[in-house]
Amino acid sequence: MIHVAIVGSGPTGCFVAEFLAKKHQTIQIDIFDRLPTPFGLVRAGVAPDHQQTKRISQQFDRTLQRDNVRFVGNVEIGRTISYDSLKQHYHAIVIATGAFIDKPLPGIDDPIKGIYGSAHFAGWYNSHPEHCKQPPELNGPEVAIIGTGNVALDIARVLSKTTTELSDSDINTDTEKAINEAGISDIYIIGRRGPEHASFTNMELTELNKLENCTILTDADRLPEQTPDISDAGQRRAVEQNLATLREYSNHAQQNQKIRLHLMFNYNLSGTENSNGKLTALSLTDNSDSKNDLRLPAQTLISAIGYRSEVIPGIPFNEHHGRFEHTDGLIEPGVYCAGWCKRGPQGVIPTNRSDANSTGKRILADLADTTVSKAGFSGVADQLDQQAPVFYEDWQTIDNAEQSRATNHRPRTKFSDTDAMIAQIL
Ligand code: NAP
Repeated sequence: MIHVAIVGSGPTGCFVAEFLAKKHQTIQIDIFDRLPTPFGLVRAGVAPDHQQTKRISQQFDRTLQRDNVRFVGNVEIGRTISYDSLKQHYHAIVIATGAFIDKPLPGIDDPIKGIYGSAHFAGWYNSHPEHCKQPPELNGPEVAIIGTGNVALDIARVLSKTTTELSDSDINTDTEKAINEAGISDIYIIGRRGPEHASFTNMELTELNKLENCTILTDADRLPEQTPDISDAGQRRAVEQNLATLREYSNHAQQNQKIRLHLMFNYNLSGTENSNGKLTALSLTDNSDSKNDLRLPAQTLISAIGYRSEVIPGIPFNEHHGRFEHTDGLIEPGVYCAGWCKRGPQGVIPTNRSDANSTGKRILADLADTTVSKAGFSGVADQLDQQAPVFYEDWQTIDNAEQSRATNHRPRTKFSDTDAMIAQIL
């Protein structure tokens, strides 16, 4: 029997498990996660109103139900079980922990209330237990978001939606209430480069225009007249589509909607102002030829500039890139990485499938002739005694409890602390 440990039950971990479980007859795959709940980013990163995207968890659920796959939640590798112990007892280890630490926003060193990273902010509105311990405070009507990626658009959209628009989402009602009570009037999405360099995709950009109570505004003067020369046809088409959508938005008049969402390009954040330690305004340096620097009132600043992976003690880490040190996915003999902790936070969920499959293929090739016997889960199980591991059937209990707590048309009301989750299974 071959024993494989996968660290992280997000999309990549589940894709690797599915691949290996299908391709090998005598394999046991144990997926460890530090949360009592599986699916990583699908549960705690994908926006709560994107239920269609979250539906992929049904496929991952089927993977976890396979006879040769074991989910072990509430177990942290590097703390509950050491990395060395895992290496001792498994033939192969796949690190698939993703990237969920906010990259620091350059120039923001002082602790000012009202400044948050997108991992924390999106984690909060997705009821991630770590991020709900210190919920962000929305202290006023003006919110600024740095970065022009899909995460920035997700955050702006969730902050702008009405109760009706959120009615089939899985945002918790107390989170929604906190957003409503902030009385948001203006959201500024600020890119340091021009719109032709924005990394948001057109589907997400056009989705903004469907918002019931929000007008999308952008300055026509900041949009290039021509699409720049881009040799890759697909990329050129993507930029053309974005520019066409933005041109349409630049014709919007300031209507009577409750919220104005401003898409701003070519501005660098150069400073902040605060009153008694609470953010009050931003200084923006104009990077365009017009050199029209701005002072922007804002009580909340969310940095959506990308993520880093978290260090696991004992595993070589590349601090500069914020991910594990590896050569083509191999960290050291028998230890592999896949997904965002290997490539960085790029691409959509299905991008991780091909990455996971190639990792799976490599593992099977490397283990093809192995005659070494390993204990697998039984070798590490005694380290879990104090920890209340959460197995698949326990997750089902938590899942059912969340669904039965759901109000109105919502799919679930999530537990936002691990004790409440564990209490369901004791
Ligand atoms: P992203 O697409 O890499 O965008 C990061 C943004 O931050 C870029 O606009 C970047 O600008 C900016 N930035 C980086 N460093 C900066 C700095 N020091 N100062 C100012 N701006 C800075 O990252 P993301 O939005 O976090 O998304 C991560 C991945 O998840 C992406 O692949 C995304 O497509 C995916 N995702 C997909 C969906 C969806 O499909 N609906 C939803 C959410 C996320 P520069 O270009 O100038 O560096």
